[in-house]
Amino acid sequence: MKDRHNRKYANRRKKLAADIRKKGISDERVIQAIEQIPRHLFVDSALEKRAYEDSALPISCGQTISQPYTVAAQTEHLQLQKGEKILEIGTGSGYQAAILCHMGAEVYSVERHEPLYLSARKVLKDLGFRPHLKCGDGTLGWSAYAPYDGIVVTAGAPVVPEDLIQQLSVGGRLIVPVGDQKVQTMTRITRVSEDEYKQEQLKQYKFVPLIGEKGWD
Ligand code: SAM
Repeated sequence: MKDRHNRKYANRRKKLAADIRKKGISDERVIQAIEQIPRHLFVDSALEKRAYEDSALPISCGQTISQPYTVAAQTEHLQLQKGEKILEIGTGSGYQAAILCHMGAEVYSVERHEPLYLSARKVLKDLGFRPHLKCGDGTLGWSAYAPYDGIVVTAGAPVVPEDLIQQLSVGGRLIVPVGDQKVQTMTRITRVSEDEYKQEQLKQYKFVPLIGEKGWD
């Protein structure tokens, strides 16, 4: 990442990273990524001063940039190793994609709203990251590049999208919030072998809905 971007607000970012550690995130690589990635570049300039609060903030198209703690928790649940191929569903602002790129993943990310896809593409490029981005329905995954070592869904799904399960490599992890539109349980599905999966229910969250063919209408 280009150096000039991460000097501004460095102290606030440090404090945010420390707060997230206190809230229970223990993967130091995740904490370090939160400390490095300039979140203020992923929100509207009118909200820049609030970028290092641990809260979700509005972005365009009626969507949100997730709370930093949530981004950190989803990233930790992925159990990411450097060089792994990760698919994100719901690029939104591009912040989660930047965290994953910074941690050394090969990132693929799908967003259904074109204005968000375009603005995320710009900010990620300006920062020197090179994820593969696509505008489309992420409930179907991105089969052209499957299988993935990890898939992270950053919007709330009514059920686990079957196509995403199919696009996991053996050993791959799918992190997806599943529930109704008010509350979702973070769910981790690990592909243990070609036809065996392990499912874990983690904490409860509230996400914007995953809308698409295999999501909400
Ligand atoms: N990861 C994002 C970030 O770091 O800013 C969080 C964005 S927001 C919580 C969830 C995003 O999922 C929204 O931008 C929304 O448009 C997108 N989304 C919802 N349904 C989708 C779908 N079927 N395919 C792709 N993106 C979808």
